[in-house]
Amino acid sequence: MSISSHTGRFSPPTVDAAGRVPLIGLALPEVVTTITANDLPAFRAKQIWHWIYKRGVRNFTDMINLPKDVRVLLAEKYSIERPDAVTSLRSTDGTIKWLLSLSDGQQIETVFIPEAKRGTLCVSSQVGCTLTCKFCHTGTQPLVRNLSAHEILQQIMFARDALDEWPCSGEGKQQPDDVSKLTNIVIMGMGEPLFNYNNIVQALKICMDPDGLAVSKRRITLSTSGIASMIRQCGDDLGVNLAVSLHASTDEIRSKLMPINKKYPLAEVLEACRTYPIASDVRRITFEYIMLRDVNDSDDDAVRLTKLLRGIYSKINIIPFNEWEGSGFECSTEAQIGSFARILENAGYEAPVRRPRGRDIMAACGQLRSASIRART
Ligand code: SAH
Ligand code: SF4
Repeated sequence: MSISSHTGRFSPPTVDAAGRVPLIGLALPEVVTTITANDLPAFRAKQIWHWIYKRGVRNFTDMINLPKDVRVLLAEKYSIERPDAVTSLRSTDGTIKWLLSLSDGQQIETVFIPEAKRGTLCVSSQVGCTLTCKFCHTGTQPLVRNLSAHEILQQIMFARDALDEWPCSGEGKQQPDDVSKLTNIVIMGMGEPLFNYNNIVQALKICMDPDGLAVSKRRITLSTSGIASMIRQCGDDLGVNLAVSLHASTDEIRSKLMPINKKYPLAEVLEACRTYPIASDVRRITFEYIMLRDVNDSDDDAVRLTKLLRGIYSKINIIPFNEWEGSGFECSTEAQIGSFARILENAGYEAPVRRPRGRDIMAACGQLRSASIRART
């Protein structure tokens, strides 16, 4: 039954506090296996899946086409609950950050970023992160554990509840597709998704399944610090959009900022990107580049970057550094950010400067969990 990719202290729990097995996060055949072991007929699995992923029900009582005794049995053995929101903060720019409490009391953050033509949900893959990138506040916090497929999906389902965006909520009521505000998903919250690979794959397959949450792979982006050995497989298994946190144009600087570069240096990361199966002119790999004043933001860095990325279907997201106390870094000047972007654009790259969202509620990139940790110390 366990779908965890890791053992030992990083493993997520497989049952809730009451000993019930979460059904969210199990593939349809796995639901068949578990319910038939409890003497229920296999055909019930499809009905249950429909209630969970299309209707968004949060308790078995609402599964009204199942006999009452079946509903009672399901409620005894299984859970389909959502995590509790410890806090829900709304930024002046509309961004919403939820601090969610998991069944074992661990907490994660999920952020919704509404924009003019889309709404993006930023999903966490781990509690904390083992990679100690120097500019990232999440990286200063110890990894407590991986998230299960269940906990990864729960973030998306929680957001659909909160935003009231289930495609067929209510009896037979089918909302038109275009009323949905949550259109895109980025695995860019806390944690390194490729270090929790099996659970991410399991969750995203259900997320993309037309009978599951039915989110197109074109609307899902996975962000990695550059775990070169897993990048190709990720493309083969999932075919989602890829974002790579690059943040430097030389190994020397990148290793200082991101110690993982010593294991997977630039050349290896970029070679893996060259072979990323779904990359094309219309589905470019996003390279994220944080602007750190006098560290990685010179014109020479920009020129080197144009050479490094040659031959890769790429676009560069220039990210003004979100400052946090004690980081030891400052954000580059507006003028230098402009100059950096111009060099990339003149070389033919798309290089938008990402407008920071939710800074006032510590929901911006690299700030997750900061305030909650502080509140407890
Ligand atoms: N671990 C994955 C995904 C989570 S981090 C990764 O590293 O890609 C999501 C993004 O936020 C990464 O590009 C990361 O480099 C960026 N980030 C981290 N700290 C930041 C900060 N203080 N300011 C701006 N971006 C930051
Ligand atoms: Fe982990 Fe990504 Fe933060 Fe690095 S930037 S510490 S990989 S979450």
